[in-house]
Parts: sequence; structure tokens; C-alpha cells
Amino acid sequence: MKITPSLSLSPNFALREFTRSETAKKHQLYNLPRDVSEIANLKALCDAVLEPIRALFGRPVIITSGFRCVTLNRLIGGAPTSQHLYGEAADIIVAGLKTEYAARTLAAHPDLPFDQLIYEARERADGSFAKWVHISHKRQGENRREALTILIGKGGKRVLTGIHPADTAPNSAESTEA
Ligand SMILES: [Zn+2]
Repeated sequence: MKITPSLSLSPNFALREFTRSETAKKHQLYNLPRDVSEIANLKALCDAVLEPIRALFGRPVIITSGFRCVTLNRLIGGAPTSQHLYGEAADIIVAGLKTEYAARTLAAHPDLPFDQLIYEARERADGSFAKWVHISHKRQGENRREALTILIGKGGKRVLTGIHPADTAPNSAESTEA
């Protein structure tokens, strides 16, 4: 198997959707998996989680960040052990749906085998929020079905269990830790 961006991972997903990145392009990084196990992980993520999400909503699933090589993960501030490094995670939005609604629906789904589902909202300079759903799946081992909200506002970062609205993000007027 040749690992190229056009590689098909599942009926509706190709590798390029997981590997494209403005930061990788800017820094001329080779952001493609080098190992067949990473491809197997991505295929499992598509089959177990992303294709079912597409079918559930009947809408395209857009991947905003998928596979990350070590350098890319570091440049964008990912956790050092991020599942994005192994092809086990994708940050997604669902076309035409509010991201909080998608996160809430997926977190409550009775048989979606995700390891972590994180509704993430990051405040932009203009006060609006960039929002996405981080969803991961382990090909081997237990999938924990852990649902979290991570809000990053001007006042800091807040991690909450379950899915919560982005307007509970810390702002500069309050302390970071509740
Ligand atoms: Zn993520």
C-alpha cells in the first residue's frame, strides 16, 4: 500500500481530508502517516465513528484537523500525547449544524464507540468563538465514551464534564478556576 493523500480510508473519506493543514503547508511539513498502523487507526476511526456520524445526520462531516505529525502537533499547541498523532482522532464540524448541537447529540448517542468526545470552543480576538468537536476512537483497547467541554477564553481555559454552552467560557472579568 502506498500512502498518498488520495488513499481512500472509507466510502466517504480520503486521507487528504485528515492531512491537509495550513500550518503544515506554511512550514513545508511532510504531514502524512509513515506507518500502516496509523492508516489502520484512521480507517477504524472512519468506519466506527465518522461514517456513522455522516449517516446519522445525513450531512457531510468536515475535518478541520486530523492526522498530525509530531512537528505539526507541536506547532499548533496540541497535547504531547494527542491521539491526533496516531490517527486516532479528528476535529470535525457537521455541515449546516450548530456545533454544540452536534456535540450534544453525539455524546448522547447510545452506541457510538468513541474514546473521547470534546466540544471545544476557542475565543477569537474579536470575541466570537471557533468551535469544533474532537472525537477519537481506539482500534485496540477500550473506548471510554468520555464527553467533555473545553472552553478557552480570554480569561483562561475551563474543562467541564459533559457538553456545555460556549458562553460559559472564562472571560477576563472572572478568575480562571471556578
Ligand atoms: Zn482534536
